[in-house]
Amino acid sequence: MLRIGLGALEQGPVETAGEVAADDPLLKGLDFSLREPVRVSGQLTAAGPGSYYWRGTLETAAEATCRRCLAPAALRLNVPVNVLFTEDQEADDPSVYLIPPRAKTLEMGEAIREELILAMPEYVLCRENCAGLCPQCGKDLNEGPCECQPVSTDPRWAKLEALQKRSTKKNP
Ligand SMILES: [Zn+2]
Ligand SMILES: [Zn+2]
Repeated sequence: MLRIGLGALEQGPVETAGEVAADDPLLKGLDFSLREPVRVSGQLTAAGPGSYYWRGTLETAAEATCRRCLAPAALRLNVPVNVLFTEDQEADDPSVYLIPPRAKTLEMGEAIREELILAMPEYVLCRENCAGLCPQCGKDLNEGPCECQPVSTDPRWAKLEALQKRSTKKNP
């Protein structure tokens, strides 16, 4: 968890360097797990009264579930971060984080968690051409083909096949 004293910012930008452990309570309840601590780097700059601009990078290795074959999929995250911390309650933007008025310190934890979640791809694959699981027998098709016959499960296709059969009957 990174906590920055805001007093020092009057003298100029402050480095934001640190690590959040992979098992830090801050990172609990994500739908992916972390294999490495989150390495935080960057700079915090004063940006007007009660506002602080943070430009930095989050780096870690994550593990999620492949959406096609359900195997664990590892991915490296290298997330550029550009966010504004502000006490201006009117500010409304996904990259804006509200801080209490006249705060003396800045807790960066929530922003780190949020930015990691935003950076995670929605559709994680273990490899680009993952073959997935057979919808009939559940075999992992990355390990080879199964014995199943392909069937069309989409009702639209069934209708089309019926039409085709009918028209071949009419015009042989
Ligand atoms: Zn896969
Ligand atoms: Zn199968």
